[in-house]
Amino acid sequence: MNWRKELVNSYTRIEDLLSVLELDINQIDQLISTKTYFPFRVTQAYASRIKPRDPNDPLLLQVLPTSGELLSPQNFSDDPVGEEPFKKDSSLLQKYHGRALLVATGACAINCRYCFRRAFPYQHMVKAKALENAIEQISRDLSIKEVILSGGDPLILDDQELETIFESLQRIKHVERLRIHSRLPIVLPSRVTKRFTRLMRDTSLNTSLVVHVNHPNELDNLTIESLRRCKDNGLILLNQSVLLKNINNDIKTLTELSEVLFSAGVLPYYMHLLDRVKGASHFEVSDTEALNLETQLRTRLSGYLMPTFVREIAKKGSKIPLAQI
Ligand code: SF4
Repeated sequence: MNWRKELVNSYTRIEDLLSVLELDINQIDQLISTKTYFPFRVTQAYASRIKPRDPNDPLLLQVLPTSGELLSPQNFSDDPVGEEPFKKDSSLLQKYHGRALLVATGACAINCRYCFRRAFPYQHMVKAKALENAIEQISRDLSIKEVILSGGDPLILDDQELETIFESLQRIKHVERLRIHSRLPIVLPSRVTKRFTRLMRDTSLNTSLVVHVNHPNELDNLTIESLRRCKDNGLILLNQSVLLKNINNDIKTLTELSEVLFSAGVLPYYMHLLDRVKGASHFEVSDTEALNLETQLRTRLSGYLMPTFVREIAKKGSKIPLAQI
Protein backbone atom coordinates (compact mmCIF):
# COMPACT_ATOMS: atom_id res chain seq x y z
CA MET A 1 0.00 0.00 0.00
CA ASN A 2 1.09 3.55 -0.74
CA TRP A 3 2.70 5.05 2.39
CA ARG A 4 0.39 8.08 2.39
CA LYS A 5 -2.66 5.81 2.51
CA GLU A 6 -1.04 3.79 5.28
CA LEU A 7 -0.42 6.97 7.21
CA VAL A 8 -4.05 8.00 6.90
CA ASN A 9 -5.06 4.58 8.25
CA SER A 10 -3.09 5.09 11.48
CA TYR A 11 -4.78 4.61 14.83
CA THR A 12 -5.87 7.91 16.33
CA ARG A 13 -8.30 6.45 18.87
CA ILE A 14 -6.90 4.48 21.79
CA GLU A 15 -9.98 2.22 21.84
CA ASP A 16 -9.29 1.06 18.27
CA LEU A 17 -5.70 0.08 19.03
CA LEU A 18 -6.69 -1.70 22.25
CA SER A 19 -9.40 -3.58 20.42
CA VAL A 20 -6.99 -5.06 17.82
CA LEU A 21 -4.61 -5.93 20.65
CA GLU A 22 -7.46 -7.73 22.41
CA LEU A 23 -7.01 -5.55 25.45
CA ASP A 24 -9.82 -4.27 27.59
CA ILE A 25 -9.60 -0.58 28.41
CA ASN A 26 -9.87 -1.53 32.11
CA GLN A 27 -6.65 -3.55 31.85
CA ILE A 28 -4.69 -0.37 31.21
CA ASP A 29 -3.67 1.45 34.32
CA GLN A 30 -4.70 5.08 34.50
CA LEU A 31 -5.30 5.82 30.87
CA ILE A 32 -5.98 9.49 30.14
CA SER A 33 -7.64 11.36 27.33
CA THR A 34 -5.46 13.41 24.98
CA LYS A 35 -8.18 15.41 23.31
CA THR A 36 -6.67 18.69 24.35
CA TYR A 37 -2.93 18.12 23.92
CA PHE A 38 -0.32 15.91 22.22
CA PRO A 39 -2.73 13.55 20.50
CA PHE A 40 -2.58 9.79 20.34
CA ARG A 41 -1.24 8.45 17.02
CA VAL A 42 0.21 5.06 16.04
CA THR A 43 0.81 3.53 12.61
CA GLN A 44 -0.62 0.10 11.86
CA ALA A 45 2.89 -1.13 10.98
CA TYR A 46 4.16 -0.28 14.48
CA ALA A 47 1.00 -1.63 16.14
CA SER A 48 1.49 -4.96 14.37
CA ARG A 49 4.66 -5.49 16.42
CA ILE A 50 2.92 -5.02 19.78
CA LYS A 51 2.20 -8.32 21.49
CA PRO A 52 -1.57 -8.87 21.78
CA ARG A 53 -3.08 -9.17 25.27
CA ASP A 54 0.00 -7.70 26.96
CA PRO A 55 -0.71 -4.37 28.67
CA ASN A 56 3.00 -4.04 29.54
CA ASP A 57 4.37 -4.53 26.05
CA PRO A 58 7.37 -2.19 25.68
CA LEU A 59 6.17 -0.86 22.32
CA LEU A 60 2.69 -0.20 23.66
CA LEU A 61 4.07 1.68 26.68
CA GLN A 62 5.84 4.13 24.34
CA VAL A 63 2.57 5.33 22.84
CA LEU A 64 -0.11 5.01 25.53
CA PRO A 65 -1.05 8.21 27.37
CA THR A 66 -1.35 7.46 31.08
CA SER A 67 -1.75 9.53 34.22
CA GLY A 68 2.04 9.71 34.61
CA GLU A 69 1.77 12.52 32.05
CA LEU A 70 -0.11 14.64 34.55
CA LEU A 71 2.80 14.72 37.01
CA SER A 72 4.80 17.92 36.91
CA PRO A 73 8.08 17.67 38.80
CA GLN A 74 9.90 20.99 39.09
CA ASN A 75 12.79 20.18 36.79
CA PHE A 76 10.50 19.22 33.88
CA SER A 77 9.47 21.93 31.42
CA ASP A 78 7.94 22.46 27.99
CA ASP A 79 11.36 23.35 26.59
CA PRO A 80 13.83 20.96 28.23
CA VAL A 81 16.76 21.56 25.87
CA GLY A 82 16.45 25.33 25.53
CA GLU A 83 15.21 25.63 21.95
CA GLU A 84 12.77 28.51 22.60
CA PRO A 85 15.36 31.28 22.21
CA PHE A 86 15.93 30.13 18.63
CA LYS A 87 12.39 30.91 17.59
CA LYS A 88 12.36 33.42 14.77
CA ASP A 89 10.58 33.64 11.48
CA SER A 90 12.77 30.81 10.32
CA SER A 91 12.83 27.01 10.41
CA LEU A 92 16.43 27.03 11.55
CA LEU A 93 17.72 26.00 14.96
CA GLN A 94 21.41 26.44 15.54
CA LYS A 95 22.74 24.81 18.66
CA TYR A 96 26.16 23.48 17.79
CA HIS A 97 29.08 24.83 15.82
CA GLY A 98 29.15 23.94 12.14
CA ARG A 99 25.73 22.31 12.15
CA ALA A 100 22.22 23.63 11.74
CA LEU A 101 18.86 21.99 12.25
CA LEU A 102 16.17 22.57 9.68
CA VAL A 103 12.73 21.93 11.20
CA ALA A 104 10.90 20.93 8.05
CA THR A 105 7.57 19.86 9.57
CA GLY A 106 5.85 19.56 12.93
CA ALA A 107 4.07 16.32 12.01
CA CYS A 108 5.01 12.74 12.91
CA ALA A 109 3.64 9.34 11.96
CA ILE A 110 3.61 8.25 15.60
CA ASN A 111 3.36 10.27 18.78
CA CYS A 112 5.93 8.99 21.28
CA ARG A 113 4.78 10.02 24.73
CA TYR A 114 8.33 10.89 25.88
CA CYS A 115 9.05 13.18 22.91
CA PHE A 116 11.06 16.25 23.97
CA ARG A 117 9.31 18.34 21.32
CA ARG A 118 5.81 17.31 22.42
CA ALA A 119 5.01 20.91 23.33
CA PHE A 120 7.14 22.55 20.66
CA PRO A 121 5.54 25.60 19.03
CA TYR A 122 6.07 24.53 15.40
CA GLN A 123 3.37 26.72 13.83
CA HIS A 124 5.49 29.61 12.59
CA MET A 125 8.59 27.49 11.86
CA VAL A 126 7.14 25.20 9.25
CA LYS A 127 5.67 27.76 6.87
CA ALA A 128 7.13 28.05 3.35
CA LYS A 129 8.47 31.52 4.11
CA ALA A 130 10.22 30.27 7.26
CA LEU A 131 11.91 27.52 5.26
CA GLU A 132 13.00 30.04 2.65
CA ASN A 133 14.42 32.27 5.39
CA ALA A 134 16.28 29.30 6.85
CA ILE A 135 17.91 28.43 3.51
CA GLU A 136 18.90 32.07 3.14
CA GLN A 137 20.40 32.07 6.66
CA ILE A 138 22.38 28.90 5.88
CA SER A 139 23.71 30.40 2.65
CA ARG A 140 24.98 33.45 4.54
CA ASP A 141 26.66 31.52 7.35
CA LEU A 142 29.89 30.02 6.03
CA SER A 143 30.45 28.07 9.24
CA ILE A 144 27.53 25.69 8.51
CA LYS A 145 28.93 22.54 6.93
CA GLU A 146 26.17 20.15 7.92
CA VAL A 147 22.41 20.53 7.76
CA ILE A 148 20.21 18.21 9.79
CA LEU A 149 16.68 17.78 8.56
CA SER A 150 14.48 17.35 11.59
CA GLY A 151 10.94 17.94 12.82
CA GLY A 152 8.51 16.48 13.74
CA ASP A 153 9.59 13.89 11.24
CA PRO A 154 11.05 15.22 7.98
CA LEU A 155 10.09 12.09 6.04
CA ILE A 156 6.46 13.15 6.44
CA LEU A 157 7.31 15.48 3.55
CA ASP A 158 6.87 13.82 0.19
CA ASP A 159 9.78 13.06 -2.10
CA GLN A 160 9.14 16.09 -4.30
CA GLU A 161 9.30 18.42 -1.26
CA LEU A 162 12.49 16.73 -0.09
CA GLU A 163 14.03 17.07 -3.53
CA THR A 164 13.34 20.81 -3.52
CA ILE A 165 15.09 21.17 -0.14
CA PHE A 166 18.02 19.02 -1.28
CA GLU A 167 18.43 21.15 -4.41
CA SER A 168 18.45 24.38 -2.40
CA LEU A 169 21.09 22.99 -0.05
CA GLN A 170 23.22 21.59 -2.86
CA ARG A 171 23.50 25.06 -4.32
CA ILE A 172 25.18 26.32 -1.13
CA LYS A 173 28.87 25.65 -1.62
CA HIS A 174 29.90 25.48 2.05
CA VAL A 175 27.24 22.86 2.94
CA GLU A 176 28.90 19.46 2.61
CA ARG A 177 26.71 17.11 4.61
CA LEU A 178 23.02 16.37 4.93
CA ARG A 179 21.70 14.32 7.79
CA ILE A 180 18.09 13.19 8.16
CA HIS A 181 16.65 12.28 11.54
CA SER A 182 13.58 10.13 11.11
CA ARG A 183 11.51 7.46 12.82
CA LEU A 184 9.47 6.74 9.69
CA PRO A 185 11.71 3.96 8.28
CA ILE A 186 10.86 2.15 11.53
CA VAL A 187 7.22 3.00 12.14
CA LEU A 188 6.17 3.20 8.48
CA PRO A 189 8.72 1.18 6.47
CA SER A 190 6.84 1.76 3.19
CA ARG A 191 7.99 5.40 3.39
CA VAL A 192 11.42 4.26 2.21
CA THR A 193 10.49 4.59 -1.46
CA LYS A 194 12.83 3.97 -4.36
CA ARG A 195 12.68 7.66 -5.17
CA PHE A 196 13.73 8.59 -1.63
CA THR A 197 16.73 6.25 -1.60
CA ARG A 198 17.75 7.53 -5.04
CA LEU A 199 17.47 11.12 -3.85
CA MET A 200 19.74 10.37 -0.93
CA ARG A 201 22.15 8.48 -3.14
CA ASP A 202 22.32 10.95 -5.98
CA THR A 203 22.65 14.25 -4.14
CA SER A 204 26.13 15.75 -4.23
CA LEU A 205 25.94 16.15 -0.43
CA ASN A 206 27.31 13.46 1.86
CA THR A 207 24.22 11.93 3.40
CA SER A 208 23.37 9.94 6.48
CA LEU A 209 20.09 8.74 7.93
CA VAL A 210 19.66 8.57 11.69
CA VAL A 211 16.72 6.37 12.67
CA HIS A 212 15.13 6.02 16.10
CA VAL A 213 14.67 2.59 17.65
CA ASN A 214 14.34 2.02 21.39
CA HIS A 215 13.57 -1.68 21.59
CA PRO A 216 14.61 -4.70 19.48
CA ASN A 217 10.94 -5.66 18.93
CA GLU A 218 10.57 -2.52 16.80
CA LEU A 219 12.59 -4.21 14.07
CA ASP A 220 10.48 -6.70 12.14
CA ASN A 221 11.10 -8.07 8.63
CA LEU A 222 9.51 -5.10 6.86
CA THR A 223 11.60 -2.64 8.83
CA ILE A 224 14.77 -4.58 8.21
CA GLU A 225 13.98 -4.62 4.48
CA SER A 226 13.46 -0.85 4.48
CA LEU A 227 16.81 -0.36 6.18
CA ARG A 228 18.49 -2.73 3.71
CA ARG A 229 17.06 -0.67 0.83
CA CYS A 230 18.80 2.34 2.34
CA LYS A 231 22.02 0.46 2.83
CA ASP A 232 21.98 -0.97 -0.69
CA ASN A 233 21.87 2.62 -1.93
CA GLY A 234 24.97 3.47 0.02
CA LEU A 235 23.37 5.38 2.89
CA ILE A 236 25.16 5.60 6.22
CA LEU A 237 22.67 4.40 8.82
CA LEU A 238 22.87 5.32 12.49
CA ASN A 239 20.46 4.86 15.36
CA GLN A 240 19.58 6.96 18.34
CA SER A 241 17.50 5.69 21.24
CA VAL A 242 16.08 7.13 24.42
CA LEU A 243 16.68 5.26 27.67
CA LEU A 244 13.15 4.67 28.98
CA LYS A 245 11.95 3.21 32.27
CA ASN A 246 10.11 -0.12 31.91
CA ILE A 247 10.85 -0.14 28.19
CA ASN A 248 14.55 -0.64 27.59
CA ASN A 249 16.32 -0.05 30.92
CA ASP A 250 17.71 -3.56 31.24
CA ILE A 251 20.94 -5.02 30.02
CA LYS A 252 19.42 -7.87 27.99
CA THR A 253 17.21 -5.51 25.95
CA LEU A 254 20.01 -3.01 25.34
CA THR A 255 22.45 -5.72 24.27
CA GLU A 256 19.94 -7.23 21.87
CA LEU A 257 19.04 -3.79 20.53
CA SER A 258 22.61 -3.07 19.43
CA GLU A 259 22.96 -6.54 17.95
CA VAL A 260 19.78 -6.48 15.88
CA LEU A 261 20.50 -2.95 14.70
CA PHE A 262 23.88 -4.02 13.42
CA SER A 263 22.36 -7.06 11.68
CA ALA A 264 20.05 -4.63 9.90
CA GLY A 265 22.99 -2.50 8.80
CA VAL A 266 22.59 0.24 11.41
CA LEU A 267 25.26 1.42 13.82
CA PRO A 268 24.18 2.38 17.36
CA TYR A 269 24.99 6.08 17.78
CA TYR A 270 23.42 7.76 20.81
CA MET A 271 21.57 6.49 23.88
CA HIS A 272 19.89 9.67 25.10
CA LEU A 273 18.98 10.19 28.69
CA LEU A 274 15.40 11.41 28.78
CA ASP A 275 15.00 15.11 28.01
CA ARG A 276 13.01 16.43 30.92
CA VAL A 277 9.89 17.49 29.08
CA LYS A 278 6.66 18.04 31.01
CA GLY A 279 4.46 14.95 30.80
CA ALA A 280 7.30 12.44 30.44
CA SER A 281 8.73 12.19 33.96
CA HIS A 282 7.38 8.64 34.41
CA PHE A 283 9.83 7.47 31.72
CA GLU A 284 12.92 8.79 33.48
CA VAL A 285 15.80 6.47 34.41
CA SER A 286 18.10 7.94 37.06
CA ASP A 287 21.64 8.96 36.09
CA THR A 288 23.03 6.39 38.53
CA GLU A 289 21.06 3.56 36.96
CA ALA A 290 21.97 4.77 33.45
CA LEU A 291 25.67 4.85 34.34
CA ASN A 292 25.43 1.37 35.73
CA LEU A 293 23.73 0.12 32.56
CA GLU A 294 26.33 1.82 30.38
CA THR A 295 29.16 0.19 32.34
CA GLN A 296 27.59 -3.26 32.10
CA LEU A 297 26.74 -2.86 28.43
CA ARG A 298 30.35 -2.05 27.62
CA THR A 299 31.32 -5.49 28.94
CA ARG A 300 28.76 -7.17 26.65
CA LEU A 301 29.31 -5.44 23.34
CA SER A 302 32.10 -4.85 20.86
CA GLY A 303 33.16 -1.20 20.94
CA TYR A 304 31.51 -0.37 17.59
CA LEU A 305 28.15 -1.64 18.88
CA MET A 306 28.24 0.58 21.95
CA PRO A 307 26.03 3.70 21.76
CA THR A 308 27.30 6.81 23.54
CA PHE A 309 25.15 7.61 26.57
CA VAL A 310 24.49 11.36 26.53
CA ARG A 311 22.32 14.10 27.92
CA GLU A 312 21.44 17.26 26.09
CA ILE A 313 21.79 20.29 28.34
CA ALA A 314 20.47 23.69 27.33
CA LYS A 315 23.13 26.17 26.20
CA LYS A 316 25.96 23.62 26.13
CA GLY A 317 28.02 23.47 22.95
CA SER A 318 27.62 19.71 22.59
CA LYS A 319 25.76 16.76 24.04
CA ILE A 320 27.34 15.74 27.32
CA PRO A 321 28.53 12.13 27.85
CA LEU A 322 26.86 10.62 30.88
CA ALA A 323 30.15 9.99 32.67
CA GLN A 324 30.84 13.76 32.66
CA ILE A 325 27.49 14.86 34.09
S1 SF4 B 1 8.82 10.37 16.02
FE1 SF4 B 1 10.43 11.59 16.99
S2 SF4 B 1 9.71 13.71 16.82
FE2 SF4 B 1 7.93 12.37 16.43
S3 SF4 B 1 6.95 12.10 18.43
FE3 SF4 B 1 8.38 10.40 18.20
S4 SF4 B 1 10.25 11.14 19.18
FE4 SF4 B 1 8.98 12.93 18.78
